[in-house]
Amino acid sequence: MSIVRLASRLAPIKPSITLAVTAKAAKLRAEGMDVIGFGAGEPDFDTPAHIKEAAKRALDLGDTKYTHVAGTPSLRKAVAKELERAHGLRFSPEQVIVSVGAKHSLYNLFQVLLDPGDEVIIPAPYWVSYPDMVMLADGKPVILPTTAASGFRVTPESLRMAITPRTRAFVLNSPSNPTGAGYDRASLEALRPIFEEHEILVVSDDIYRRLVYGDFVFHQIATLSPKMAELTVVVDGLSKSHAMTGWRIGFMAGPKPIIDAVNTLQGQSTSNITSIAQAAAVAALEGPEECVEVMRREFDKRRSVMVDGLRSIPGVRCFDPQGAFYAFPDVSAYVGKHAPTGKQVQDDVALCDYLLDEGKIAVVPGSGFGAPGFVRLSYATSMENITRGIARMADALSRLS
Ligand code: PMP
Ligand code: GLU
Repeated sequence: MSIVRLASRLAPIKPSITLAVTAKAAKLRAEGMDVIGFGAGEPDFDTPAHIKEAAKRALDLGDTKYTHVAGTPSLRKAVAKELERAHGLRFSPEQVIVSVGAKHSLYNLFQVLLDPGDEVIIPAPYWVSYPDMVMLADGKPVILPTTAASGFRVTPESLRMAITPRTRAFVLNSPSNPTGAGYDRASLEALRPIFEEHEILVVSDDIYRRLVYGDFVFHQIATLSPKMAELTVVVDGLSKSHAMTGWRIGFMAGPKPIIDAVNTLQGQSTSNITSIAQAAAVAALEGPEECVEVMRREFDKRRSVMVDGLRSIPGVRCFDPQGAFYAFPDVSAYVGKHAPTGKQVQDDVALCDYLLDEGKIAVVPGSGFGAPGFVRLSYATSMENITRGIARMADALSRLS
């Protein structure tokens, strides 16, 4: 028994399963095992050269000091301009704050929004970190299940049922991690009157908005009405669109009292994000756009190969993702079967362990996303890894009986 005593606040908090799977695959690879990783939601591309150059220039020019807590004036202006260009939304630079990745933006947001017991509606399947972030702010995550049959979108009826007098916010993640499902304009319009009537804040996590495929068009819910604009906080970042996961750049824009509160919180916690990363972010937002499109097209090709490959495995059903870079197949047909060793695969977590041990592929269990019976595979990896990895998965699954 250790003499170390930890805060009880941490007790319900789980380690991030996406990061854990990624770390495990990296460790096995370092030990010489040939593991194909479908864990991390991280582009495999390098950050575009003009962005790296901007960071180098900033370093040489001595941009190495503290900046304004919320970000340099030029970066906050660039974010506001980008949000106007993308959505037609007008934010003043004072309504923008830059944080250490969109993950930090979301964490900060829940910290300033929630009193103990305040509820946040989180549609499932959800990105692993939302419920834990809400709990870290003493809030209560209210999980609202969705199904593939409804396109993994919340319906107005189910939303109404989830609302209580304690509901403060709703997490909208379109396109979604892990399903790749997106809300088109009509489905947002159907939810809008409910948010407006109950004055529920929509936390719009737009981190994958630029990675959309086929005929899906991204819509920002704040554009639907002036009231919705007052009820929306836009969370966005550069990790996914510009292959900048390691730089840690995220931002949010919304009602000034919220941004001011995050500014205060950040001023007593992290202060500004790295100064040279801010210079790089300005270059990403104001520089050429082709790099984003080149990566998007490549993801799109990989998406087809991965989804077709998964659908060709007997018993596996896979929703066609409209965005992001994940496939989220239903593998429940294999849960309960037995490995050649005789060991039963009791759930999706055990199935992922089996796939790692027997198939040498790293995939993330659906239960981490509130969706037991599913697994998540990221297609932000090479085409070769995708074709070899899916073949391994098919082979390993075929050995279950
Ligand atoms: N939101 C979603 C849905 C994500 O998948 C991620 C994972 N990267 C983030 C936010 C946070 O991204 P980052 O902190 O790298 O900006
Ligand atoms: N968001 C990515 C994922 O879901 C990166 C890891 C994380 O922050 O969760 O895989």
